[in-house]
Amino acid sequence: MTRTPLVLVVEDNEVNQLLTASVLGREGFEVDIAGTSEQALEHLRDRLPDLILMDIQLPGMDGLALTRRLKADPVTAHIVVVALTAHAMTGDREQSLAAGCAGYISKPIDTRAFGSQVRAFLRPQVPFAGEPRTDATLSGT
Ligand code: MN
Repeated sequence: MTRTPLVLVVEDNEVNQLLTASVLGREGFEVDIAGTSEQALEHLRDRLPDLILMDIQLPGMDGLALTRRLKADPVTAHIVVVALTAHAMTGDREQSLAAGCAGYISKPIDTRAFGSQVRAFLRPQVPFAGEPRTDATLSGT
């Protein structure tokens, strides 16, 4: 069974919100948007996304603190978190990996490459429909 992957975008900048959502929508993703970590937690109480795109610099609880919190919670620990890091913020990449992010994508985003960049983070989690998994690591899940 295939379904549209849901991506939660946590980003406080409105221009980046609109750009990210429009590119993801065009690439076939379903998108939720949160402007703050607190809004993200509200979204996560409603439904769990397949992937979270996490801005690091956020008002209030920042993206690193939110990522650590999600990774410490068994309900959300499995969700793939990908940091959105600005080129100028050199420490963000190392810190985002240390906080539990699976990787990072540079901002400003490359609108032509963005869809495949995001899909690359989803691929190990979403096998093709009908294709049997040959590894035994999913037992009990
Ligand atoms: Mn920001």
